[in-house]
Amino acid sequence: MKKNDILMIHGTNYKKMTKELLAAAGLAEMIGDQSKRVALKPNLVTAKHPSQGATTHSELLAGTVEYLRDNGFQNVVIMEGSWVGDRTGEAFRAAGYDRVCRMYDVPFIDLQKDSWKEYEAKGMRIKLCDQAAAVDFMINMPVLKGHCQTTVTCALKNNKGVIPNSEKRRFHTLGLHKPIAHLNTIARNDFILVDNICGDLDFEEGGNPVVMNRILGFLDPVLCDAFVCDCMGYSLKDVPYITMAEKLGIGSTDTAHANVIALNSPTEADSKFTMTGRVKRLASYAAPKDACSACYGSLIYALDRLNEAGKLRKGLPPVAIGQGYKGQEGEIGVGQCTSCFAKSLKGCPPKAADMAAFLAENWK
Ligand code: SF4
Repeated sequence: MKKNDILMIHGTNYKKMTKELLAAAGLAEMIGDQSKRVALKPNLVTAKHPSQGATTHSELLAGTVEYLRDNGFQNVVIMEGSWVGDRTGEAFRAAGYDRVCRMYDVPFIDLQKDSWKEYEAKGMRIKLCDQAAAVDFMINMPVLKGHCQTTVTCALKNNKGVIPNSEKRRFHTLGLHKPIAHLNTIARNDFILVDNICGDLDFEEGGNPVVMNRILGFLDPVLCDAFVCDCMGYSLKDVPYITMAEKLGIGSTDTAHANVIALNSPTEADSKFTMTGRVKRLASYAAPKDACSACYGSLIYALDRLNEAGKLRKGLPPVAIGQGYKGQEGEIGVGQCTSCFAKSLKGCPPKAADMAAFLAENWK
């Protein structure tokens, strides 16, 4: 796998998808020596089930552990420190990680209880938990979702879980962006496995999940977060820590030259889900017919961007989306399934950023 590759797999069997993606990435060869200590770092921000849109699905942990064991890696641990105010142990049980640890006999390390040391991080002094610093290979497993302060959160910000609570508080007093960028000069990002199953629309604690039913793989955490901006319809200017991290030499924001490798295609069979709260209100502007969840989720993010820009109003024709529109004519639609419509955006699925731009110009 190359640094500008983006692996993508769609579906609802998350454990199987995880194993397939890791095999396609060649993770075992990437790690090398089977005696190495490999850590899985999920996002366990709060004590809620992953279906709420805040935390990494336990199936991704189970799939990763099974893949590693199948390839001879025994020294595997799961580690995380929940955010200040939530106890990691409660979050651990709510997300179902206790069952994964029992089933595979994998230790869980609560980084809230770990010791730490301070490191030079390219112009900032930053504390890092000792157990996180000691691993040989770190698999960063963030959730792609919105965030009330930093707009989006994914790979770079997920590493806030490997610092002590006192440092998390200090990061907030420093405005988050600069310390997050600098943290990633010392925190490991050996492989990034992104839970893009149902991350929240705009809040890191969940409550308005946007179902996409996708898992993504990256080597570059900056490319990952830049791609997340495209997926949610934001620009890099909306999330300053991403370009700050690029300037520190951590990775590249050049999504235009990224190599997206889709391991399968989205299907309408993956789109059985219920919508809640704000997502449901945004969905009332769409007319889905057998829409794949990756496509529909992208449209929800695009509609949210248009809503922020004050461009949603009553009387707009509904935006057609889904395989049920193949070969049919109509007014306006997104995705290649609506290619016979008077106005249609190509792509399968198109990114939210492209959908938002297309609708801003053509939706009258
Ligand atoms: S364009 Fe059609 S087939 Fe492609 S993701 Fe969208 S709904 Fe699915």
